[in-house]
Amino acid sequence: MVGVAAKMGSSETRSCSCGYAFDLMEESSINKGCGICGGPQTLAYKGSISSADAAAMAPSAHQSGLYGDLFRCADCGTIAQPSLPGGDSLHSLYRDMTDTAYLAEEEGRRLTALRLIDLIGKYVPAGRLLDVGCGHGLLLDEARRRGYQATGLELSSANAGYARDVLGLDVREVGLEDFNDADGFDVVVLADVIEHLDDPVSAIDHCKNLLAPGGVLCIVTPDPSARIARLAGGRWWGFVPAHTFLMPRVTLHEILSGTGLICS
Ligand SMILES: [Zn+2]
Repeated sequence: MVGVAAKMGSSETRSCSCGYAFDLMEESSINKGCGICGGPQTLAYKGSISSADAAAMAPSAHQSGLYGDLFRCADCGTIAQPSLPGGDSLHSLYRDMTDTAYLAEEEGRRLTALRLIDLIGKYVPAGRLLDVGCGHGLLLDEARRRGYQATGLELSSANAGYARDVLGLDVREVGLEDFNDADGFDVVVLADVIEHLDDPVSAIDHCKNLLAPGGVLCIVTPDPSARIARLAGGRWWGFVPAHTFLMPRVTLHEILSGTGLICS
């Protein structure tokens, strides 16, 4: 699922299009209700693991069918993996993550990034672009070639080091919640990131605050309400050890709209 949401500017309004190591689960985390809307949760898929380490977080290491217990919210349909930690514990896993296999498919990953930049360019063809969870910096590198002023956030020291030292990009090793910018970004990208966060709703709100008037937020995330996901059941590729919350398209749009962003 790919979505672009826009922040209303003082002089213009943009429309939007959409195309496209943890511990055993604690009973208390289930009783607290859905981490997105607070609704009641029930076990959707029994998991096969109860713990994982930084290696399990790497995109290239994801294996379908390998995850902790997955719960579905009866109200908003979000699928949660509450056995994952939050806060500093979750950050630590990503700081220690390395993914050398990721660049083996660099050409294809750059093409995917270019398609996303083409979509973004229909709304904002130039300006300041922030890629949250930028990994090795491939999307940032392509955005820079298109003329964007590119900045990235990346917790993994190995990934951020590659982006800075090899590609010469401006990449900061800070979490989104700890990053602020006074000037505002014309584009904020959350590509395959929001499903890894412990508080996606706060993250979206923070991204909105980072946007300049008229700026756009682009989100790419697996959609558990998609037909292919429903057909695949527990074998769906979106169910992996690193995914905290998988939000249906409708739920994500409600959250975006609730922040004041314009989305369709
Ligand atoms: Zn919910």
